[in-house]
Amino acid sequence: MKAGDAMLKRFKKNPSSNFPPFQSFPEDSPYQFLSGKILTQTELPLPVEELQLLEEQSLVMKLPSLTNTRSTWQCHRCGTDKPYFFARFPHAGCRKKCTYCRNCIMMGRVMECEPLYWFSPLAVWKKHHSPCQWEGELTNAQSNAAEHIVLAIEKREELLVWAVCGAGKTEMLFPGLTYALRQGMRVCLATPRTDVVRELFPRLTSSFPEVEIQALYGDSEEKSGSAQLLMATTHQLYRYSQAFDVMIIDEIDAFPFHNDDSLKWAAKRAAKDHASQIYLTATPRKKEKRRIRQKQLPTVFIPSRFHGYPLPVPTLKLVTTLRSRLSKGTLPKSILQRIFNQQTGKRQLLIFASTIQYAENIKGILSSRLLVSSVHAEDPARADKILAFRNRELDVLVTTTILERGVTFPSVDVFVIDAGHQVFDEAALVQIAGRAGRSHKDPDGEVIFFHSGKTNAMFEAQEAIHQMNIKAKNQ
Ligand SMILES: [Zn+2]
Repeated sequence: MKAGDAMLKRFKKNPSSNFPPFQSFPEDSPYQFLSGKILTQTELPLPVEELQLLEEQSLVMKLPSLTNTRSTWQCHRCGTDKPYFFARFPHAGCRKKCTYCRNCIMMGRVMECEPLYWFSPLAVWKKHHSPCQWEGELTNAQSNAAEHIVLAIEKREELLVWAVCGAGKTEMLFPGLTYALRQGMRVCLATPRTDVVRELFPRLTSSFPEVEIQALYGDSEEKSGSAQLLMATTHQLYRYSQAFDVMIIDEIDAFPFHNDDSLKWAAKRAAKDHASQIYLTATPRKKEKRRIRQKQLPTVFIPSRFHGYPLPVPTLKLVTTLRSRLSKGTLPKSILQRIFNQQTGKRQLLIFASTIQYAENIKGILSSRLLVSSVHAEDPARADKILAFRNRELDVLVTTTILERGVTFPSVDVFVIDAGHQVFDEAALVQIAGRAGRSHKDPDGEVIFFHSGKTNAMFEAQEAIHQMNIKAKNQ
């Protein structure tokens, strides 16, 4: 068995249990941008000679991409060992059929015949004297959470920050980020959703103007991912190993992270041994709630919004003809009327639809009278449309659950059409309702769940929001 194989075998059980004898990148090294990365041959930005030189200096090491133990394949980029993710294809280079991994194929193909290159995670990062230029003030609840975050980073511990939608999670991170950057730590702020990265990136760069910050996601302009403070979608973590001193995962309960073991594996591996792990959520899943109850997961809880006003509680509206109308590509008159009436007010309207098709249909129905657009996950113009809505160039934005979280519009009402559909689980509905009343200038906002039969998810979401408001009041 090769040394790399043995290492990876132990790695699989515990990603941070075994650390190969790497050297640290010298402070002025032009290769430091590769620190902590795991890349395939095709992703390598270096000619072979330079790579060899780095290998001789113990700054990079080759690992097998896929290993096969007792007929079970494992991919060492994404960690999966589920048999259905492995397929074979006729590989011209090898003149035979080679196995590759389908689980992480969206990041480029990983093949058994090509190694992975792991670059030394040891590097010296800048110690920033006063990196944070944000001039706002934290509320008492935010300050309390911020103190817990600093402490978790200092002690390299795990912490869950459970903060309601609109609590101002990002700002709560600032003291922790400041502490880490002063210490010369490398920090990753990861999240399952591209829109969240896009939304947070400008806020972070304006608050930390002198710190090198990069945003990394599927179609980001920036591709190197070499910054000291990296923002990334969780998929990008497949390309890191032992790279970060602080790993913050925002929206930890969001799809696809919450139900994808391979992404969790990658997040764990991307963080260094004894890295601090901070998770942020407004709607923890059962698993986290159980760990909180069992006191296995240190948690700080923030039930109030930053502006101090309660969360808008959704109203449920039964429309018996809803599904039959939707299936015919139309909307019940009562809902149409409600939408047009709403438009006489000052707020914009965010409409959630259960499928792309319904979102497009609703857009079509409304477009004769309103400035309206629709977005979904695969929409190439998504970012532009969100920007147009934010700039108030649109009256209405119809969206799938892709905009359920992470995006902030200052003054919107929120309608969910067919809230009984299975895509709207409790977490999604709480998040969706949390889009309303985000600004201190307009802390209300109407939230209506239109449905053709009440579901548990609707009831539970309503109840959860109600409970949060009670806790915020008694704080
Ligand atoms: Zn894979």
